[in-house]
Amino acid sequence: MKITAAVLAGVGARFEVDEVELAPPREGEVLVEIAATGLCGSDLNALDGKRSLAPFPVVLGHEAAGTVVEAGPGAGRLRPGDRVVLSILPSCGHCQACKKGMPNYCATAGAAMADGNLMDGSSRLSRRGERINHFLTVSSFAQYAVVPESGAVAIPPELPLDRAALISCAVLTGYGAVRNTARVPPGSRVAVFGCGGVGLNIVQGARIAGAARIIAVDVSRAKLELARRLGATDLVHAGERDPVAAIRELDGGVDYAFEALGREQTIRQAWDSLDLGGEAVVVGLMRHGATVTLDAGPLVDEKRIRGCYLGSSVLSRDVPALAGLYLAGELMLDELISHRIGLADLDEAFGRLRAGDGARSVVMFDH
Ligand SMILES: [Zn+2]
Ligand SMILES: [Zn+2]
Repeated sequence: MKITAAVLAGVGARFEVDEVELAPPREGEVLVEIAATGLCGSDLNALDGKRSLAPFPVVLGHEAAGTVVEAGPGAGRLRPGDRVVLSILPSCGHCQACKKGMPNYCATAGAAMADGNLMDGSSRLSRRGERINHFLTVSSFAQYAVVPESGAVAIPPELPLDRAALISCAVLTGYGAVRNTARVPPGSRVAVFGCGGVGLNIVQGARIAGAARIIAVDVSRAKLELARRLGATDLVHAGERDPVAAIRELDGGVDYAFEALGREQTIRQAWDSLDLGGEAVVVGLMRHGATVTLDAGPLVDEKRIRGCYLGSSVLSRDVPALAGLYLAGELMLDELISHRIGLADLDEAFGRLRAGDGARSVVMFDH
C-alpha cells in the first residue's frame, strides 16, 4: 500500500515527507494505523548521529500508538480494531535471551534493529524501488506501520491514543526505572537529573512510589516547574548553582539519584549526590564509546551505580498497568504533551528537543 511517511536520508538531513510503499504484514506481524507518535531522544540521537541505531535511509519514530488494521499469518493475539501501544521491545521467544526470561535483550530483535529490518531480517518499506530501513522495528513517522505482534500491546479503548503513545517509551522508561529497576521504597529521598520526557516520568514514578523527597535538577525553569506539577518537592536550577551542593544541603544527600541525560558530567553529579548506601541509576543513553570517571572514595559507603534499559519493563504487565494508572487519575500524561504537530513540522520540533525546549512533541495523524 502507498502511505505518507517522513524519510530521513542521513545524519543531519531534513525529513522528506513523501509517499512510500509499505508491504503487507508477514508471519507474526500486524499492520497498524498510526494515530500518534512522540519525538524521543533516541530519534534525535539517530538524527544527530550520536548513536547509530539503524542504517539510512530510514523512517524514524518509535513512541507510538494506533489501531490494528490487519493481522498477518500466525499473529493470533491482536485483532483488527484493537488499539495498541507500539514498542521497541519485540521478542522472538526462542533465542538465548528470550529463553532466559530476558526478552528485552532478544538477539533476533537486536540483529533486526541493527540492520533496519523487521524480525525476519527484511524490510517492508520502499520508495520507488529503493529499500527504506525500519527504525527499532517501529518506524512510526508514517501513517501506517508493519510491526512484530510481540512489540504491540492492546490498551483499553478509553485511553486517548496521543497519551497512549507516550506510555510506549518515555513513561515505560522513566516510571519503570523507579518501580522496576531501582524498586524505590516509600519514604525515599530521590534526585532526578534531567527533566525531559523520561526525567519527568521518573519524577512522577517516584511520587507514585511514595518517595518523601523528590529533587528535580535541570537548566530549564519551565521544565522544573513542570516537574513540580508532576510531583517534585524541590527544584534545583543547575545553571545557577552546583546541583550536588544544593542536594547535599537539603538532606545530606539522596538514596536514589536518576540520570536521564546520558552525559558524563550528570552521571558524576548523580554519583556525588548519594548518601550512604545510595544508588545511582543511569537511565540516559550515552554516545557510543563514552566512558565515565567516578570518585572511588564513596565505594566504601556501599554506594552503587547501575544501568537501566527501558525501565526494565515487562510490556504485557507494565503497559496495561500504566493505562490503568492514567485512567485512575494517578499517572499524569496530558501535562507531558507540549506540542501537537504534523510530519511536516519534524525538523522544527527536533530543533526544540535538541535545545531542551518544551516537553513532548507528538505527531498526530488524521485518518
Ligand atoms: Zn524512545
Ligand atoms: Zn529472542
